[in-house]
Amino acid sequence: MSTPITLSTVWQCGDPAQADALLGAEGGAYVYSRDRHPNADALAEKCRILHGADRATVTASGMAAMALALVSQCQTGDHVVLSNRLYGKSAVLLASEAGRLGIGSTVVDTCDLTACAAAILPATKLVVVETISNPTLRVADIAGLAKLAHKAGAKLLVDNTLASPAICRPLELGADLVMESLTKIMNGHSDALLGMLCGRKEVWERVAKVSSAWGLMAAPFESWLVERGLGTLHLRIERACNNAAQAASFLSQQPRVKSVDYPGLPQHADHALAAKQFGSRFGHMLTFTIAGGTAAATKFIRAAKRIPFCPSLGELCTTLSHPESTSHRLMTTDQRQALGIEGGTIRLSIGIESPDFVLDALAEGLAGV
Ligand code: PLP
Repeated sequence: MSTPITLSTVWQCGDPAQADALLGAEGGAYVYSRDRHPNADALAEKCRILHGADRATVTASGMAAMALALVSQCQTGDHVVLSNRLYGKSAVLLASEAGRLGIGSTVVDTCDLTACAAAILPATKLVVVETISNPTLRVADIAGLAKLAHKAGAKLLVDNTLASPAICRPLELGADLVMESLTKIMNGHSDALLGMLCGRKEVWERVAKVSSAWGLMAAPFESWLVERGLGTLHLRIERACNNAAQAASFLSQQPRVKSVDYPGLPQHADHALAAKQFGSRFGHMLTFTIAGGTAAATKFIRAAKRIPFCPSLGELCTTLSHPESTSHRLMTTDQRQALGIEGGTIRLSIGIESPDFVLDALAEGLAGV
């Protein structure tokens, strides 16, 4: 019942004719594991089905999947439009690293469709957004952005890491490519670093070649771990989303809490869009800001002893991060403020504990502020 783990890096060929046939086979056969191996195929097929994609592949990390999307779709002289709320390393890759290869970029508020349309140039090949962005959990209008991109002959690439296909399937809304860091909720057990790229067949022409030549392929054991993690995705998501909704409503009622960012709350800027795109689930991520700035956030973090401070997300247990000192520490105070990040801002990745455990652990933290 469990996919065997195939660690072999190379397969033996019988004779030159067979070697030639295997190496020339359409889509490739198993010859060398940088090109293809059974555990990557098994996981990619599950991701393909979950997203309703024509094609899918897995990569050594989420960043490798983003690099694969960039290099397979763009070349020197091309241009990309980037959301101003992308994960920091994605912005480094798609703006500064891409710039070194002669690929231009424009950063824009993709929640503003008019500004986004104005940023698309004749050379634009990709518009890149996150379904739900970190840390204020703004939601991208995927159908609207896909229309804009397609009108200009560009493709829409969506980073669906914070949502997962259990919340959103961007290809169904018009996106052309979807990437995810499988390191997060897709695996869910904090023990494998991996990524995934899937999409329509029209955008797939160069993907296998780029993955092989740039050495981006996922390793067998990590692929196996994530395949195992995926088996419980629907249960983990259901529990974590329910916990997050309860935590959002609890935090909204606390006097020390200035604001709560959760797309499931009616006051969130994108609540209506989230309800339309996601239905009744709004994700497992939740951000709130405590009055009193960094000092108050530090007190909360020290007092919330049952919530580990770790700057990742999608774990089994509830974890917290402090964007000012971790993910957004290289920005200026003004840049952070423009994104709604203050010293007192804390981002939670809600886990699958009992709802009482989560609320008690938060109350314990707030009591220390
Ligand atoms: N995209 C998002 C939204 C992320 O949060 C991350 C990692 O934190 C990545 C991409 C990169 O994924 P990985 O760490 O697996 O390379």
